[in-house]
Amino acid sequence: MSKKAIVIGSGVAGLAASIRLAQKGIETHVFEANDFPGGKINSRLVNGYRFDQGPSLLTCPEYIEEIYTLCGKDFKSFEMADLKSSFKYFFNDGTVLDLKRDNEQVVNEIADKLGEDPETVEKYLKKAEKNYRLIAPLFIERSLHRWRGLLGKQLRQALLKLPSYKLMSTMHQENSRAFKNPRTVQIFNRFAQYNGSHPYMAPAMMNMISHLEINIHPVLPKNGMIQITESLYALAKEQGVQFHLGEPVEKIIVENRKIQGIKTSKGTYSSDFVVSNMDISFTYEKLLPNAKHPKKTLSQEKSSSVLAFYWGIKKSFDQLEVHNMIFSDTDKEEFDAVFHDKSIHAEPSIYLYVSSKIVEGDAPKGCENWFVLLNAPINQGQDWDKHLAEKRAFVIKKMSALLGEDIAPLIEVEEALDPRIVESKYHGKFGSIYGNASNNRFSAFYRHPNYSKEIVGLYFAGVSVHPGGGIPLALNSAKIACECLFQDSKLV
Ligand SMILES: Cc1cc2nc3c(=O)[nH]c(=O)nc-3n(C[C@H](O)[C@H](O)[C@H](O)COP(=O)(O)OP(=O)(O)OC[C@H]3O[C@@H](n4cnc5c(N)ncnc54)[C@H](O)[C@@H]3O)c2cc1C
Repeated sequence: MSKKAIVIGSGVAGLAASIRLAQKGIETHVFEANDFPGGKINSRLVNGYRFDQGPSLLTCPEYIEEIYTLCGKDFKSFEMADLKSSFKYFFNDGTVLDLKRDNEQVVNEIADKLGEDPETVEKYLKKAEKNYRLIAPLFIERSLHRWRGLLGKQLRQALLKLPSYKLMSTMHQENSRAFKNPRTVQIFNRFAQYNGSHPYMAPAMMNMISHLEINIHPVLPKNGMIQITESLYALAKEQGVQFHLGEPVEKIIVENRKIQGIKTSKGTYSSDFVVSNMDISFTYEKLLPNAKHPKKTLSQEKSSSVLAFYWGIKKSFDQLEVHNMIFSDTDKEEFDAVFHDKSIHAEPSIYLYVSSKIVEGDAPKGCENWFVLLNAPINQGQDWDKHLAEKRAFVIKKMSALLGEDIAPLIEVEEALDPRIVESKYHGKFGSIYGNASNNRFSAFYRHPNYSKEIVGLYFAGVSVHPGGGIPLALNSAKIACECLFQDSKLV
């Protein structure tokens, strides 16, 4: 008789896990609390403007390709938009950098506009690539908790290189040593935001993330980020996965330390395996209140959250690209506010994503869909309505000055996101968007493994467990969780 698996949550990791399970011939059911699949990767259409609600930047599409290949599908059908620019940066002193999808142009642009030595920039980027190639297969693509997966040549090579990862320095310290212009440092510090961490605290090893954006360049699916959810959801259904949308799981049923199934408001369902894509803290607190809880793992510092505005703007601005960063001069204070004071700095940097620049139909003709995002601390009961009102005024002032026109009267559609919504809509603990922060050099080892050491048949996939936050890592967490499940049940 075929085995049965239940996946709790249809975030990108839940979808990927369900496809991998179904591919092994396991009868797979996904239970999703929301009435739509995809978790944070969802989209809303408001009066002719379409807004990707969560992620806007995709790196490592090869992890999606891997799932296509697994299902015997050609990844060419997952079309990409023809992005010309990776990122456009605007600084307070009027400097503007447009980093194209051309490595030589990127080095020259940084050298010309910021006065860096091109050789230094090249050397930095080569090192980022080297470190990424050594580290990714060990820390991102495998379980850190099953050592047999780690032994071998790769591990020896990575360990020999340990001093070059500069575990004792922070990202900011290394970037300040490498570059002379604080603006360049600001650009490279930005990569801490890939998993919601503080560049003045996160280990320098994380500087390798710049490889993904500056050497390889991000991509954008042709229909926007929602294409990730739509394609994986369709693929899962093709593999026979059955979806139960709008049916939150209330309990994981365990007997004699072995998975029996789950309970929802509609009934109980038996299964041999459960893969939880729900935030790990909530999985223990809400679904396994009587199980032994890994207190140290669950008490780790959480990554940042966001304040965001989705604005339909009835004009188009040539100065803007698809991905834009409008830096403030105070990034240390900004990150300190988010992580130490749990407040929002008066002048935060602004990230602006305008998919309608390239995705057809994302805004009415001559208009743009702005997704404005500001770093925010996790939800600890702050007055978010007040913060939203203040930051709305700040963004309008800043963008109006940058574009030379009052943008307030151009906003014809408006919605907002704050940590309270991240917590209630996506069920992320305290509204954190990337699970645990990586603000110390042992963070990787404090993430929860992708399996339970206490309960047979229980596995975990998603940003709150190993290897961490962001779409590529969430996809890898699904792969690792399924590999552990297949190993344990001799399905390899
Ligand atoms: C505003 C924003 C911007 C971001 N930008 C980027 C970016 O540019 N690039 C990037 O790579 N990442 C970005 N991220 C992070 C990225 O969205 C996440 O890392 C990734 O999508 C998380 O996937 P996941 O599968 O772990 O979980 P989620 O997407 O959180 O999905 C978990 C699912 O579980 C469901 N669930 C929870 N509890 C239950 C229950 N009891 N029963 C049933 N279902 C349940 C939830 O409803 C949800 O659908 C961003 C996130 C946000 C919010």
